[in-house]
Amino acid sequence: MAEIILKNVTKEYENGFVAVKNINLEIGNNEFVILVGPSGCGKSTTLRMIAGLEDISEGDLYIDGERVNNVSPQDRDIAMVFQNYALYPHMTVYQNIAYSLKIKKVPKKEIDQRVHEVARSLGLEDLLDRRPGQLSGGQKQRVAMGRAIIRKPKAFLMDEPLSNLDAKLRGQMRVEIASIYQRLNTTFVYVTHDQTEAMTLGTKIVVMKDGEIQQTDDPSNLFNYPVNKFVAGFIGTPAMNFFDAEVVEESGQLYLKTKDGKILLNEAKAEKIREAGKVGAKVQCGIRPEHVKRAAEGDRVFSGTVSVFELLGSNAIVYVQTADRMIIMNTDDTERVAHGERLCLSVQPEKVHVFDPDTERTITN
Ligand code: ATP
Repeated sequence: MAEIILKNVTKEYENGFVAVKNINLEIGNNEFVILVGPSGCGKSTTLRMIAGLEDISEGDLYIDGERVNNVSPQDRDIAMVFQNYALYPHMTVYQNIAYSLKIKKVPKKEIDQRVHEVARSLGLEDLLDRRPGQLSGGQKQRVAMGRAIIRKPKAFLMDEPLSNLDAKLRGQMRVEIASIYQRLNTTFVYVTHDQTEAMTLGTKIVVMKDGEIQQTDDPSNLFNYPVNKFVAGFIGTPAMNFFDAEVVEESGQLYLKTKDGKILLNEAKAEKIREAGKVGAKVQCGIRPEHVKRAAEGDRVFSGTVSVFELLGSNAIVYVQTADRMIIMNTDDTERVAHGERLCLSVQPEKVHVFDPDTERTITN
């Protein structure tokens, strides 16, 4: 258990590149915090600063109330699991897991007991005599976890721990990590660019872009109330559809007018738009594929022709090419629609996001 606080933390590398810009983050005891964002946004740098593997250029890092900017990695009592596992190839699984206790000169009997305990919890008991070269990717991953767990650290830091695994194993290990988290009940900080991992594992998700935090929130808020267009587009698969519209007023009601039709805004959204002074203005809008529906001609917001129909089992993803953009619909109506067929689409008005075209910040949250 550890509480980790970053206050105005900046990282400037020796070549002058600023990889992390003045970030503030509070990671509570036992939280599972995910750092997510596109390649190069500063996730690993942030994690490495917490671990003590990178110096902090400006700002303060606190672990359990103590400022640790100048405390060495070994003395921070946190364990890091890397993407490449970093196992010792010449040692057996047993020796790899036991290593940190051995160098701490823990009595042999206690080491033996703890190694077996950890191996049991990770399903590694039958593999204790093997060397890493004789293990599958998933098994190596579990050994790497075991090596971290046995130290009983205050917190676990993980940098894309599943990225070397195939899709099926990735899914299994994701569940494994979730159950390890439940069992250990300790603090996790986890870097990934896989948003499924982020949404399923995280109690709190930090979305980063260009070294800055865009939004820190729980998975549901991030999905339903993204603060800007970047977060809206980054979280969710398939990604949110974006389209241009004009806010028009008719008989006291506000509509978003698109090329093909219009969306009646509910009172809550209309009020936010009035407050932002956007009546009559051009805005950018977003709608998630699951909130796009087939519609009758007269109710259409978009119209176009079917470009691709993907049947995924219980749902289907339909790509509809409109005059100026592709609109993606995720529907549980799995009846096949032919390529080239014309479709009219509407949207669930209460699910529409409206963004300021200049700042790209949400107006309607
Ligand atoms: P990825 O998902 O690709 O691993 P990331 O979000 O983890 O990306 P970082 O590894 O934190 O990104 O890197 C952030 C930025 O800092 C990148 O633009 C990277 O090129 C740069 N960077 C990383 N290490 C150094 C270094 N030692 N010197 C200079 N720039 C660096």
